[in-house]
Amino acid sequence: MRGFGFAEHGGPDRLGHVEIAEPEPGPGEVRVRWRAASFNHLDQFTLAGIPGVPIERPHVLGSDGSGVVDRVGPGVEGWSVGEKVLVNPGLSDGECPACQRGEEAYCRNYRILGEHTQGSATEFGVLPARNLRALPERLSFEQGAAVPLVFQTAWRALKSVAGLRAGESCAIIGAGGAVATAAIQVAARLGARVVVATRSEGKEEKALALGAESVVRFGPDRPLDKLLWPWSGKAGVDVIFDSVGAPTLPGSVRSLARGGRVVVIGATAGPVVEIDLRTIFWRQGSIRGSTMAHVAEFDEVLGELARGRLRPVVDAVYPFDRAREAFDRLLAPDLFGKVVLLGP
Ligand SMILES: [Zn+2]
Repeated sequence: MRGFGFAEHGGPDRLGHVEIAEPEPGPGEVRVRWRAASFNHLDQFTLAGIPGVPIERPHVLGSDGSGVVDRVGPGVEGWSVGEKVLVNPGLSDGECPACQRGEEAYCRNYRILGEHTQGSATEFGVLPARNLRALPERLSFEQGAAVPLVFQTAWRALKSVAGLRAGESCAIIGAGGAVATAAIQVAARLGARVVVATRSEGKEEKALALGAESVVRFGPDRPLDKLLWPWSGKAGVDVIFDSVGAPTLPGSVRSLARGGRVVVIGATAGPVVEIDLRTIFWRQGSIRGSTMAHVAEFDEVLGELARGRLRPVVDAVYPFDRAREAFDRLLAPDLFGKVVLLGP
């Protein structure tokens, strides 16, 4: 079957259409006919090659997907052919001590669809039945494919890991990446006062429409902390959601309130930073990492989307034959939300 991905690791020049075998569902598994997939920065890392993560090649990208149940493996109950679904890309073994506690994101065998397995930018995918969810009625396939990875990431990071509470202040670093568009909404939904810090022009109105109270524009001559500090009334910011990394993390830490928390969910612009520890202990702050979510958290945020309290932000939808163009769109400076690829 046709897929979009790569046969050799490297840069975007390695990307193209690949052929992989059509999968068959085993016991407890369901085969999904993909109708839409979407890209994440993770796809770029998978393409480049992640140390310690061996993958089968050719490899199909895509960690997010929606579609229709196509075949049902032995022993699967509750799903029938033709049902509209979206998938949770977090693949846990369901057996280790963490899974037994309902803390699947800590699973010792945790894998992600499209990173450790063949992804969703193809015709069919096979997943454990427990990773399927009914596509909420108010969402199209395109919108459904824009939900799973970024919303579970933003929800767990802000609500569970950072413990963001109503009335607190929260800064989202970056405005246009899909995870930021989810985080702005989640922070506002949790009752926080939200400021968005962005380097790019032209995203203010859209960020405000998602629930931000204000937007600040930082850059080489406009350091992040010099903007966040006055915004917070010189009290510092309670929770800072940083997915940028090296260029912003020191400024995020300098902007913390006493008892403030920086939550790091990625490092798209570089992973190695130097932090002045005096700012950490003096303000009794913390830097915590977060990735993906436990199943209960995934279901919680999906419920918010099903009720229309949060909404997926789709930047653009591409037909399958323009997959390469869709992938390049991830790096466009005016990106705002998810890049969705329709199934072949
Ligand atoms: Zn496990």
